[in-house]
Amino acid sequence: MGENKLILEMRGISKDFSGVQALKKVNLSVEAGEVHCLIGANGAGKSTLMKVLAGVYSMDEGEIIFDQKQANITNPISSNRLGIAVIYQELSLLPNLSVAENIFIGKYPRKYRYLLDWAELTKKSRALIDSLGIKIDVMEPVSCLSIGHRQIVELAKALASNAKLIVMDEPSATLSSEEFETLVRVIQELKNKGISIIYISHRLEELFRVGDKVTVLRDGQYVATKQLKEITQDQLVELIIGHALSKEKKPKVPISTIEELVTMKDIHTNKLTSINLSLYKGEILGLYGLVGSGRTEILRAIYGADPLQKGELYINGGKVKFRSPAEAMKKGIALVPESRKTQGLLLNLSVWENAVVPSLKNYTWFGLLRYSTMFKHVNEQVEQLMVVTPSIRASVKNLSGGNQQKVVIAKWLLKNSNILLFDEPTQGIDIGAKEEVYKIIKGLSDKGFGVIVASSELAELVQLCDRMVVMFNGNIAGEFQQEDFRDDAILHCAVTGG
Ligand code: ADP
Ligand code: MG
Repeated sequence: MGENKLILEMRGISKDFSGVQALKKVNLSVEAGEVHCLIGANGAGKSTLMKVLAGVYSMDEGEIIFDQKQANITNPISSNRLGIAVIYQELSLLPNLSVAENIFIGKYPRKYRYLLDWAELTKKSRALIDSLGIKIDVMEPVSCLSIGHRQIVELAKALASNAKLIVMDEPSATLSSEEFETLVRVIQELKNKGISIIYISHRLEELFRVGDKVTVLRDGQYVATKQLKEITQDQLVELIIGHALSKEKKPKVPISTIEELVTMKDIHTNKLTSINLSLYKGEILGLYGLVGSGRTEILRAIYGADPLQKGELYINGGKVKFRSPAEAMKKGIALVPESRKTQGLLLNLSVWENAVVPSLKNYTWFGLLRYSTMFKHVNEQVEQLMVVTPSIRASVKNLSGGNQQKVVIAKWLLKNSNILLFDEPTQGIDIGAKEEVYKIIKGLSDKGFGVIVASSELAELVQLCDRMVVMFNGNIAGEFQQEDFRDDAILHCAVTGG
């Protein structure tokens, strides 16, 4: 840090995929020892630019200067030799081999020419892992490690190959927040060693934590490079989407506190103690708190996923005792879960099949499916929610994250739910789609739906909610009305419990 030596300069890079201009004269400059973030909506060209750098794609136009020298990158090997390591989301480790073997794969220390020198291998890999400040047993097979630790092994492997520049394409998408914290520390260690990092992520809060600079791409074009210290989140979002933010918060319609859709009275579960909470008709209620504070558990208690040890739950005015989520669904509760891909959708099925899963019974008549009514309803939802799909017969796995999220919402609307529970509704979807999901949620609350949103992104809740409840250690630590939303007060409450 400090020295302004450029490790990488990509100048005027263009790349065309048979008519799709993925990159148009893009520039990127990275200094030695810098964490340089790369951001842009889906399809902006981030991955393509990195694949050009990695030698996976050849560029049509432009030049790359690496470590002050003209670089001729024609394939992944030549990129690697220069000192460039790219860590893709689907990590490239061999699960059955040990950590040590993975780190030095292809260049094992030998003794007597042919024999693998285990002692040396262990010693060297242990030294590398230690130098990152992490405790991992290097003799353990990689398959026993958490995703977070596997990523650190990838970083150690990059170090072992003498990488000067490491590219991480969405490293955090699958990490818990503890694992992310570890990653932040390791990135700091790498910087101290003078290694540069290109960091791609959709999560703005994260970029501000780890990054020194950010380069924004839009539609295959270079937009700007900024010091993260000198830019606000909103300014960054405006660069990404290319126009000013519609900063309208949810206009404050007075919420009638007469009609309670959800009432929790002194609820205890194995994770929650004495929860008293109401959700009103037309309200968007935010649940904020650190990981493990009980946000998700509140949703689970309402949804019948965790048994109540004590207390009373009322749904739409009636007392209930759910023994399963299926019973909660029947009463009009819908949960849009956190990991959409594994919990909310059947990826190999089509949009319409996914959309009608919970409401199939409504479309059955003496055992026959009423296809025309069903398709009509699905098409209506798809239009209303503006799901971008070639048709409702397309398989959901081909939709973008934001559109998959909309399909999950569509399926609950078809089911006539009036209480919608969202757990991290915009995790892993890009900024444009986020805005759309917010709009949908606001639109639903205007129609009288009650919505609870649990999120670890405070900015998201501030923009979206009428009221916010802060969780701490299985308890409600505080409650904030929209006019009192102040980041510092809310954060303080989440961290200290009051
Ligand atoms: P990002 O990583 O920013 O989401 P990508 O670099 O993956 O964006 O994609 C940029 C554009 O190039 C998109 O329009 C995408 O559809 C297109 N594209 C990327 N890879 C290919 C490919 N192998 N063949 C054809 N088009 C591609
Ligand atoms: Mg990408």
